[in-house]
Amino acid sequence: MTFFDNARCAPISSPYGSSTRYDGSSRRTGGGPDATHGGIDLTLAEGTPLLAIAAGTVFATGEGGQMEGNFVWLLHLPDRSGLPFAFLAKYQHLAAPAPLRRGAVVALGQEIARSGSTGTVGGHYGSAGYAHLHLTVRSIAADKIALAVGPESGFSIVRDSIQIDPLTVYVPGLRSPGEAADLPAERKQVVVAYVGAGSVVRPASARAVWPVACP
Ligand SMILES: [Zn+2]
Repeated sequence: MTFFDNARCAPISSPYGSSTRYDGSSRRTGGGPDATHGGIDLTLAEGTPLLAIAAGTVFATGEGGQMEGNFVWLLHLPDRSGLPFAFLAKYQHLAAPAPLRRGAVVALGQEIARSGSTGTVGGHYGSAGYAHLHLTVRSIAADKIALAVGPESGFSIVRDSIQIDPLTVYVPGLRSPGEAADLPAERKQVVVAYVGAGSVVRPASARAVWPVACP
């Protein structure tokens, strides 16, 4: 992957599906024989603003424990995001609980929280923890969207959604996330849009951006 205009954005320090952490240690230690990474990690200074990767609404916020930390889930439905499929995005290890209400509308690239190390202290990463963003994306099939909207909806939609590589969101021209697995290599060369100086989305036509601003 590269960034639009070859911008130098915060890179992925541990990709989706990886069996190792950012420091090269094995996720299988204590994680079971098939432990692989369920999202992407970005190593970030404590307090880095985190941005909504697409337009959507707040689905849930909370304070998880060890491994999870403070988190926010955003819901991205096609009618709001302009993207071809529905998905949930979960941002973890936030410095503080996200000051957002369920159902609040978030714009593409809007700051939703600050990065931190909650949920990482005392485990593998030691007493200092590891300040980073863990971003998980789960796609929602069209016939399950009703489970995700409305006042009665709850975390059943998480069980009924499918974990995917978050980079799938940036692949142009997909009709469904499943198509990404069958793409020829050249179409997997993702060029990721971002929010640059002055909070400008680059390119302006982008419907999905990197979760942190780029210089
Ligand atoms: Zn992670």
